[in-house]
Amino acid sequence: MAAAAKSKKNKNLIRGADGDWEIIVGLEVHAQVASKSKLFSASSTGFGAEPNSHVSLVDAAMPGMLPVINEECVAQAVRTGHGLNAEIHPYSVFDRKNYFYPDLPQGYQISQYKQPIVGEGEVTIDVDGETRVIGIEWLHLEQDAGKSIHDQHPDYSYVDLNRSGVALMEIVSKPDLRSSKEAQAYVTKVRTILRYLGTSDGDMDKGNLRADVNVSVRKPGGDLGTRCEIKNVNSIRFIGQAIDTEARRQIAIIEDGGRITQETRLFDPAKCETRSMRSKEEAHDYRYFPDPDLLPLEISEDYIARLKAALPELPDEKQARFVSKLGLSSYDASVLIAERENADYFEAVAKGRDGKLAANWVINELFGRLNKEGLQISDSPVSAKQLGNIIDLISEGTISGKIAKDLFEIVWSEGGDPAAIVEARGMKQVTDTGAIEKTVEEVLAANPEKAEQAKAKPNLAGWFVGQVMKASGGKANPQVVNDIVRKKLGV
Ligand code: MN
Repeated sequence: MAAAAKSKKNKNLIRGADGDWEIIVGLEVHAQVASKSKLFSASSTGFGAEPNSHVSLVDAAMPGMLPVINEECVAQAVRTGHGLNAEIHPYSVFDRKNYFYPDLPQGYQISQYKQPIVGEGEVTIDVDGETRVIGIEWLHLEQDAGKSIHDQHPDYSYVDLNRSGVALMEIVSKPDLRSSKEAQAYVTKVRTILRYLGTSDGDMDKGNLRADVNVSVRKPGGDLGTRCEIKNVNSIRFIGQAIDTEARRQIAIIEDGGRITQETRLFDPAKCETRSMRSKEEAHDYRYFPDPDLLPLEISEDYIARLKAALPELPDEKQARFVSKLGLSSYDASVLIAERENADYFEAVAKGRDGKLAANWVINELFGRLNKEGLQISDSPVSAKQLGNIIDLISEGTISGKIAKDLFEIVWSEGGDPAAIVEARGMKQVTDTGAIEKTVEEVLAANPEKAEQAKAKPNLAGWFVGQVMKASGGKANPQVVNDIVRKKLGV
């Protein structure tokens, strides 16, 4: 086994001037908790409001104001912990993480440090047909900061505190990721899980999901190298680019005889480079201590179990069910479950029908068309009911697969009941053998030389089938045509 594992080529390695290098990545994903109000105040979390319109006295850190924990945010963190197959801690503690910044009126962020609400867990990812389990170190709850605005006035900076105090879940992975591709698959999977659970919308465009990316490089099997942390990367594509760029920078320095300094860096997508932001703080720089305004958070085992029992079906479970119950390939199932809305649509189409046929139509025709038009499933002009009806017409032999594609186009652009369209436009498949025989005879008579050749070379029969299908406007039943052509040719 060991020899086999060793001889297996590791395609994640990066070739440097001085041999191969391995990338080690750990991610801290910050996901905004789906909740109407903030973590410790009743202010709204609504996006896009007038600056500083969602700010309570607590969020503005007025003297004497006391934080009060939002129970829904706690429940969301516990649900997420379950979704990450993680241990839930019945006892956790909120700490103050002290630092000074204009968008942080308290002068500290309320976070969790040594005793987070969620402990070790794991997430499964699929990359290039290989399944890997990525460890979760912990998940903690913390407050988001406000936003500094520097581009409104040449002499002033502004602060918008609408985001200040909004609940975040920070999900910290183990350094188990070995390539940019794996890191992208991991963030995508975490986002899928959050969306299934309804615990975060994972919307990266709104900044509701962002990642701090820790990157180091080492010789395969060697000691871990010094890592650099790239802050606040806000798209899946940029996460991949930031990792590859940073790894190549580190390799070049080490191969030049230099050393990596631990630091915090920024990724600049326009230049596709990472830049030094500040030397990395250690935990002790933040002077963490338990927040004296908040009691330790205690939740009962019963509460934890009740939230677990009420979880929806999770992406991995759904994928396994699509494979075992509906006979789909693991790949097709993974495509269908990636977004919950897509999976729901597929299930509505597949209900009471052939699962594989439904999957083919949903993935190839529908998703293909939606992608081309840049549309989401919620914008689909073809409803699950309409697509199901089209599939029924194929299954019962009323229309051929080819005509079904034309029918799909008509329903896409004009709407309407598929069966009624088939009726009104004469799109029914011709299975009447008499009519098909007549067309076959005409085609054979028009091509006597080819017919002679086909008698000696049965492969050529396919050409006649094509001609007959064409002559019938695609409406002849291809199986019947094939049978009759072969019978007439005697092959
Ligand atoms: Mn954080």
